[in-house]
Amino acid sequence: MSFVESDERIALRKAVSELGAKYGNEYFVAKAKAGEKTTELWEEAGKLGYLGVAVPEEYGGGGGGIGDLAAVCEELAAAGCPLLLMVVSPAICATVIARFGTEEQKSKWLPGFADGTLKMAFAITEPDAGSNSHRLKTHVRRDGDEWILKGTKTFISGIDEVDAVLVVAIQKTGPVLVVVPTNAEGFTWHQIEMDLVAPEKQFTLFFDDVRLPSDAVVGSPDQGLLQVFAGLNPERIMGASMATGSARLAISKAVTYARQRQVWDNPIGSHQGLAHPLAKIHIEIELARLMTQKAAALYDSGRDKPVSEKEAGEAANMAKYAAGEAVAAAVDQAIQTHGGNGLTSEFGLASMLGMSRLSRIAPVSREMVLNFVAQNSLKLPRSY
Ligand SMILES: Cc1cc2nc3c(=O)[nH]c(=O)nc-3n(C[C@H](O)[C@H](O)[C@H](O)COP(=O)(O)OP(=O)(O)OC[C@H]3O[C@@H](n4cnc5c(N)ncnc54)[C@H](O)[C@@H]3O)c2cc1C
Repeated sequence: MSFVESDERIALRKAVSELGAKYGNEYFVAKAKAGEKTTELWEEAGKLGYLGVAVPEEYGGGGGGIGDLAAVCEELAAAGCPLLLMVVSPAICATVIARFGTEEQKSKWLPGFADGTLKMAFAITEPDAGSNSHRLKTHVRRDGDEWILKGTKTFISGIDEVDAVLVVAIQKTGPVLVVVPTNAEGFTWHQIEMDLVAPEKQFTLFFDDVRLPSDAVVGSPDQGLLQVFAGLNPERIMGASMATGSARLAISKAVTYARQRQVWDNPIGSHQGLAHPLAKIHIEIELARLMTQKAAALYDSGRDKPVSEKEAGEAANMAKYAAGEAVAAAVDQAIQTHGGNGLTSEFGLASMLGMSRLSRIAPVSREMVLNFVAQNSLKLPRSY
């Protein structure tokens, strides 16, 4: 067991961090406020191989693991550019297709994931199901050689900028994953107005008897549950790394300010009322990063049984929880440290508030993580 990252991972972090610094938080916020996408950054990260770092080498990727992809996501977020679609497209969709897709599906989709030229959204959340994925109603049925998809999904990120969406649907034997191109007939969507400062938008999707070819179903229709979990654990690990990256940015802004700002005889950072919360959050960020790296290491070594208290699922949930708490506390305390400046556009902290709260809600809420740990790790009975 090593607590030191490999030289390759350290070099990857440094290179990504330099790319992120080239764009920075001002670029990210300006794009979001103008209703534009961070296309230049996505394309450059794709060309440099950072988005495809976990795609197998034979399909043009870096051949690394989720730990590498999470490092990319964290460093971009720490540079002020948290890319929500990274949590979805290369982490869930590419991983599931690489692990379970047929040879044709891998050849069709993976090279685009490897260089970032392909983007895919992921849709599991439904209006009447929410946190309860046992209540999903979107269903798919066979019709000769084709599949027919019907249902509604909500809060789906980035549908206006992707080529296709990986949909979790229900069929007789349980969940199944289907790839739906955004130009499929019968597939429409509308945008949900959100008060988040983020370039990625959220949408409600409508599938009205959408006809799909036989190869739209990823892998085996009978192994859907395993395949869904194979995507959800990377999603949690990526959500955690995006959160710890943003938390690092918030604390670094707070510390810079606290060292310089002086309204009594000493800089405000010398007052323990400010120094201790910052120190506490710094510790919490490091703990969350450690758990995120553990979860990624377990996942990358194949220890990801759907429900096991000793494997990647537990660690990914714990990492996601810890990171969500850390980023919410970090942004809040960074704002407090800045006083009135914490709410100005110039210091760029208030614009982080919505995304920092999102980490407690998605991709899995704080309460559902606590439920998971209570039931699986502690074997407590469930109330729902
Ligand atoms: C910005 C954004 C982007 C998103 N992107 C995507 C995406 O790309 N794809 C996708 O599929 N989804 C996406 N989501 C959806 C997200 O995963 C859900 O919002 C999240 O899982 C919570 O579901 P819900 O909003 O329906 O809340 P609900 O399930 O309605 O829960 C509401 C509250 O009740 C609590 N609660 C519910 N059940 C229990 C229980 N048994 N015990 C204790 N508390 C409980 C929850 O924790 C929460 O606090 C996104 C959401 C947002 C806000």
